[in-house]
Amino acid sequence: MNSLSFTFRRHAILSGRWRLSSFGPVQSRGDASKGTCVKLPSLDSLKIVYYPDPVLRERCAPVDNFGPDLTALADRMLNLMRDGNGVGLAAPQVGLPLRLFVCNITGEPEDDMVFVNPQLTDLSGADQREEGCLSLPGVSVVMRRSLNATMNADDTEGHPVEKDGSGLLVRVWQHESDHLDGRMIIDNMSASDEIANRRAIKQLETDFIGPLRGKKSG
Ligand SMILES: [Zn+2]
Repeated sequence: MNSLSFTFRRHAILSGRWRLSSFGPVQSRGDASKGTCVKLPSLDSLKIVYYPDPVLRERCAPVDNFGPDLTALADRMLNLMRDGNGVGLAAPQVGLPLRLFVCNITGEPEDDMVFVNPQLTDLSGADQREEGCLSLPGVSVVMRRSLNATMNADDTEGHPVEKDGSGLLVRVWQHESDHLDGRMIIDNMSASDEIANRRAIKQLETDFIGPLRGKKSG
């Protein structure tokens, strides 16, 4: 059980950064000098958001608050990823526009990885394979990705992490890094991908608009 509630404070003009903090209660709303505060749901109520939720198109902000709250968030994301049978999950996929993702390509707990403010370098090689996405159920797109890369990031305590990877792991790193810049696999569809995915994408768009319509009329 986790009763932590998160507050994101946007330090508007000066830094343009979102800060993750567990300070509460929220102070002033709408005061530009103090930033705009958004009260977010508890970790337990975080859930995967689906296309076309606009948060999936945001360029995510760097994380500059590290520590137990960030670790708890990453743990929650790993659980959501596992529940969805995924191999990776980025923060915007749970509605948080922050530069953070988790992944695990084997399903073994010791292979859990968390990358905060990730940066990929030394990309080399190329490979084409189908990819799916937890925010795009029923959709798969053939993506050309680099085969090898070096990951530089922070862990949830703010310590630097460097890892070399290849194959599926690097494919996941690239997929999740794309999410942090608002990019999704449907941005790269070939004509045949478009045909194959048209129905699933249309359904997601209908499902997203449906509840909004319901709210308005109800
Ligand atoms: Zn995805």
